[in-house]
Amino acid sequence: MYDIIKWGVDYMNNQINIKIPKKYQERIMEIYHDEDGYWVILNKGWCGYEQGCHVIHEDTQHDMLRSIREIEVCDCDACRE
Ligand SMILES: [Zn+2]
Repeated sequence: MYDIIKWGVDYMNNQINIKIPKKYQERIMEIYHDEDGYWVILNKGWCGYEQGCHVIHEDTQHDMLRSIREIEVCDCDACRE
């Protein structure tokens, strides 16, 4: 059910290993971590907080995982092309 995915590196250049449920993995292109927090870049066809929002930003891993569970199908012009 859960896979540990190597999503990239954090700002200290450490590998990020985050457990993401499989059903959400296909929705995510990339996750990275810098001094501003966690950034989740979504694949085409998916959105975060609202329609047309393809990047999720959260301060903590906990909040990021919560937002990942709220990813929805995106119906914006760019995704419908
Ligand atoms: Zn979209």
